[in-house]
Amino acid sequence: MNSLETAPGAHAGWIVVKFGGTSVSTRPRWDTICRIARDWHAQGKRVLIVVSALSGITDKLKTIAEARGDRDKREAVRAEILDRHEAMFAELGLSDRATLQYWLDRLTALSQDSRAENAELPWQAEVLALGEQLSSTLGVAYLNTLGLPAHWLDARRHLLAQALPNQTAWGTYLSASVPTAPDLALAAKLAGEGEVFISQGFMARNAGGETVILGRGGSDTSAAYFGALLKAEKVEIWTDVAGMFSANPRIVPSARLLSRLDYEEAQEIATTGAKVLHPRCLNPVREAQVPLVVRDTNRPELAGTEIGASILAAAPSVKAVSERRGITLISMESIGMWQQVGFLADVFARFKHHGLSIDLISSAETNVTVSLDPSENLVNSDVLSALAADLAEVCRVKVIAPCTAVTLVGRGMRSLLPRLASVLAEFDLLRVHLVSQSSNNLNLTIVVDEAAADGLVPTLHAALIKAEALRAEDPAVFGPAWSELYADRLAPPAPPWWRQRREELLQLAQQQGPCYVYDLASVRARARALRGLLAPDRWFYALKANSHDEVLRCIAAEGLGLECVSLAELERAAQFVDSSRLLFTPNFAPRDEYAAAFARGARVTLDNLHPLQHWGETFRGRDIILRVDLGSGRGHHDKVRTGGAGSKFGLSLDQLDEFHALARGLDLAVVGLHAHLGSGILDAGHWREVYAQLAALAQRFGRIEAINIGGGLGVPARPGDAPLDLAALDAFLCEIKTAYPQFQLWLEPGRYLVAEAGVLLARVTQTKRKGEYRYVGVDTGMNSLIRPALYEAWHEIVNLSRCDEPATTLYQVVGPICESGDVLGTNRRLPACQDGDVLLIAQAGAYGATMASHYNLRAPATECVV
Ligand SMILES: *Cc1c(COP(=O)(O)O)cnc(C)c1O
Repeated sequence: MNSLETAPGAHAGWIVVKFGGTSVSTRPRWDTICRIARDWHAQGKRVLIVVSALSGITDKLKTIAEARGDRDKREAVRAEILDRHEAMFAELGLSDRATLQYWLDRLTALSQDSRAENAELPWQAEVLALGEQLSSTLGVAYLNTLGLPAHWLDARRHLLAQALPNQTAWGTYLSASVPTAPDLALAAKLAGEGEVFISQGFMARNAGGETVILGRGGSDTSAAYFGALLKAEKVEIWTDVAGMFSANPRIVPSARLLSRLDYEEAQEIATTGAKVLHPRCLNPVREAQVPLVVRDTNRPELAGTEIGASILAAAPSVKAVSERRGITLISMESIGMWQQVGFLADVFARFKHHGLSIDLISSAETNVTVSLDPSENLVNSDVLSALAADLAEVCRVKVIAPCTAVTLVGRGMRSLLPRLASVLAEFDLLRVHLVSQSSNNLNLTIVVDEAAADGLVPTLHAALIKAEALRAEDPAVFGPAWSELYADRLAPPAPPWWRQRREELLQLAQQQGPCYVYDLASVRARARALRGLLAPDRWFYALKANSHDEVLRCIAAEGLGLECVSLAELERAAQFVDSSRLLFTPNFAPRDEYAAAFARGARVTLDNLHPLQHWGETFRGRDIILRVDLGSGRGHHDKVRTGGAGSKFGLSLDQLDEFHALARGLDLAVVGLHAHLGSGILDAGHWREVYAQLAALAQRFGRIEAINIGGGLGVPARPGDAPLDLAALDAFLCEIKTAYPQFQLWLEPGRYLVAEAGVLLARVTQTKRKGEYRYVGVDTGMNSLIRPALYEAWHEIVNLSRCDEPATTLYQVVGPICESGDVLGTNRRLPACQDGDVLLIAQAGAYGATMASHYNLRAPATECVV
């Protein structure tokens, strides 16, 4: 390897490559990083690798940075961060831990620092920087073991932040900017030090030598700064998608890869909604004229999106359509003083006073309407009412929210207008509040009510291609469709089961009145998909999600066990599986339920000291599983998060010693550890994290056999939400199991198995108009399905009687219960409904019938299977 170090002249140009959190969180991903760096190096380049923190770590550091007086919380999170890096150290097979230890000690010192109490900003910056310092340290060590001599480069040594005029103290420490211009002397100096470097994203130093943080999108921005500084030949941002697309591929799978963009177009696309690149990272590379490429770590054969100087020869084309939700509009109507000198200055001063920056503006003789973008502003109702009160002194104010801004981006937008006529016709039925054409001729933005914006972007994208305003056939600009590139990632393309059984369902609804219908084939398919994963040893179905006999029989036949939370559930479950497949995981249950569960031979999970302190004899000599609280919950709504001190579940870790003492006295053996942190989680990395934490904890027990990482496997509710990636989940779990092969891995999902298998059918009773609202009422409501009222859960609703008619009316879909919360869906666009129509509420198979009530003495929907 020495030859690499001794031939400096041979390696001239610099390539900066950046990898985000998921790309640095596993050993196979680091192998990929090594391969990419090696390839460049073999082509005679010097390589600077910029890394983010391991995924999830920055959030944890933020928790420490903001915990203030809560020492216990800081300590718990510190321990989690430590465990995570220990696990990574082990996974990478490293042996020399001195440097890692240095940064871990620094974490300990900082979290015990007296500055923590006031969360002082310089201290916060130092805490937040640790994630990248740790990940880059692990990376350098690992690349060296692979024979690629990489040097650790302290980003703070080279990136000097400069305070901006009017910047707050918070901004100077936690959202800093670094002015960069090519520094050839620095490039030459580094060239003398080595050929491959790893540095940290997200941080810089200030003039006083303190650590500062770059804020959101920080690692991409760091790569851009380094690219500019070294006047690199190229900056490559490696991520999990091939580049920027002509629309968000999650909602428009036919969106085309953008092969080539100029800096300004890319900036517009990033600013108006695309999440691939942070808009801040484009300025530095544009000024230094360094090309920036976005590429997919999993698909290195794809060329990605190259962003560079504009190519004048290309015909004008719309490049992308994007949307931003949660936009607030402020409409200001003049009260007679419009022409008055200084009026606008007066109005805008009031926005400045409240710290609000304005995005779009449209003006008329007597009205000026502006938009506030929540990603740039701290828009909350307090700020808005204060602003409105202030503005009311000089004009009539109306706040219009929430709105969605839909933007078409492309150089030469004005010359495209004639082609857009048919596209703009799509806005026909919608309430358009504002139209704005940017003065740089790069975008056209239309703001509409958010409730009406569902489905708009796919329609516009198709219309743009049809009108040849988006010249999808031009190979210089457009690459393949996302659906072609990632066919394997597409959500199951088959329409939901109930679409093909419409006639049958309509008949059922007419005969039965309100009813839940379950499709056993869907349940079976889900069970098989889970059983097909390699890592888990055992699956238990949490039957509180749906305890219909046929559903349980079907799941039991697929070989899953059953997880029960009450004695009645246990008795039901015992009809379908033998005792070796029964789990009992109650919470605040009475003593006799534990005794009965032991008598039945079920595995019992405890999550409190009280039963051992007061009912010891029930537990003497038993094997049990211990449910712990890992300190923070997850999930789709506060009410389904089951971790953290605010939640009643799990034993707090600070009571472990006491638990051990009690267990010893009763000759009790803890044979399993359990955590279930919430419901509706779509991020596969979550369970890896839970496993890592429980496995680390297992060292404090004698003979743990099984680790139960709970349920909570989510099902995407809204169109466009990405489904849980089962393959990724399996890969994560396989990986972590290699680190801890001694434990059995158990999971206990509920919702995942049954949510999509069930629908609720209800018939329209009455319709009503009140002001601007239209209501459609059906013959059952929160007495059958309480999730919308309880969790603000979103369920797709269709008018099954009129599937083929255009959805023209915006409805509030409500039930017959005397309660304002009796709403099944808000702002749903449906065909005009008539009484007797059958509405179908989708994804109602989980936590529907099992949570139903007889409120108002209205019998809830009946249940049947097809
Ligand atoms: C409810 C519950 C589950 C299942 O949760 P889902 O979100 O439906 O997967 C798993 N474990 C325990 C302990 C539960 O209470």
